[in-house]
Amino acid sequence: MSKFLNKRYMKLESYKPGEQPKNPVYVKLNTNESPYPPGPMVIEAINKELLNNLRLYSDPTSSRLKEKLAEKYGVKSENIFVANGSDDILNFAFMAFSDEDRPVMFPEITYGFYKVFAELYGVPYTKVPLSEGFEIDRKDYTAQNKMIVIANPNAPTGRVLKLFEIEEIVRTNPENIVVIDEAYIDFGAESCVDLIFKYDNLLVVRTFSKSRSLAGARLGFAVGSASVISDLEKLKYSTNPYNVNSVTEYIGIAALEEDDYYIRNCERIMETRKRTVSELEKLGFNVIPSQANFIFVSNDEISGLELYTMLKERGILIRRWDDEKIREYVRITIGNEIEMNKFITAIREILEEQRDERMCV
Ligand SMILES: *Cc1c(COP(=O)(O)O)cnc(C)c1O
Repeated sequence: MSKFLNKRYMKLESYKPGEQPKNPVYVKLNTNESPYPPGPMVIEAINKELLNNLRLYSDPTSSRLKEKLAEKYGVKSENIFVANGSDDILNFAFMAFSDEDRPVMFPEITYGFYKVFAELYGVPYTKVPLSEGFEIDRKDYTAQNKMIVIANPNAPTGRVLKLFEIEEIVRTNPENIVVIDEAYIDFGAESCVDLIFKYDNLLVVRTFSKSRSLAGARLGFAVGSASVISDLEKLKYSTNPYNVNSVTEYIGIAALEEDDYYIRNCERIMETRKRTVSELEKLGFNVIPSQANFIFVSNDEISGLELYTMLKERGILIRRWDDEKIREYVRITIGNEIEMNKFITAIREILEEQRDERMCV
């Protein structure tokens, strides 16, 4: 830290992204990327003409992309906000809709960035405990008079709230924004996008990073009432009007034209998830029910840290956290069939090794 840093940021603890190893030999099951590449239309969209056009600024309104998204989700362009990944949108949402008089609440175990944004903007926040099995109780969020942020499905647990539960939270907090982060909605849960016609305090945040195989392109979008979207636009034009670059806008449009390809990939991932869960349960794992492209698991025979370390030694990366309530758990991204076979084989070896060691002692 330099002596010049604004004192407001001295104690700020930044978000810690999962490892992105340069070594491609790892089986990478740690940051919830898609195991499948972007579709053929995206690959073809990147041509010389597109790259030559990089000399020009991107369209700050991203109007073509917004129109495509509006058409796809049955809303108007004025209901869509696009940004440099959904993290960028969450940043703007905290900047726009929270302050000392509008504190924030979110689940105790959830996406780590919510806390970082609350601290970045100096906004008071409440972390709401989950049930034993990591369930969110909607009653904790009804009529709260606070800005509410919920990932649905939640991360890193994969658990979901039903549409009527989300609606109850939105309906009973009319004076505050309710942000529903649907980063993983395409893996089996029900989206609440249609509720934006009924409630002007709902902001639904989505991303191309997980289900549409474009994590590196950085593209997120939000759906909400026109007035809420215009607030986000105001802040975007006050920070970085060109936050979506022209290559990303173009390939985002291409991806929306081949949506069937991504829907099929999500189905494959859900099938692989089901098979992986049943293999792990046979091996004595406790698996939290997941509607996301990852699973959150623990095993009484081996600690979370040991599992993480021993898998890494075998070239397989997964994710874990040191927080007390989840330290015995690990989160595993669902990869393709080959990757998950390697993973299950490694897990079998590790558990056997553990048992042998215990016999020797
Ligand atoms: C991955 C993730 C994001 C961030 O996605 P980007 O669009 O890549 O910035 C947001 N929220 C949750 C819950 C996520 O898991």
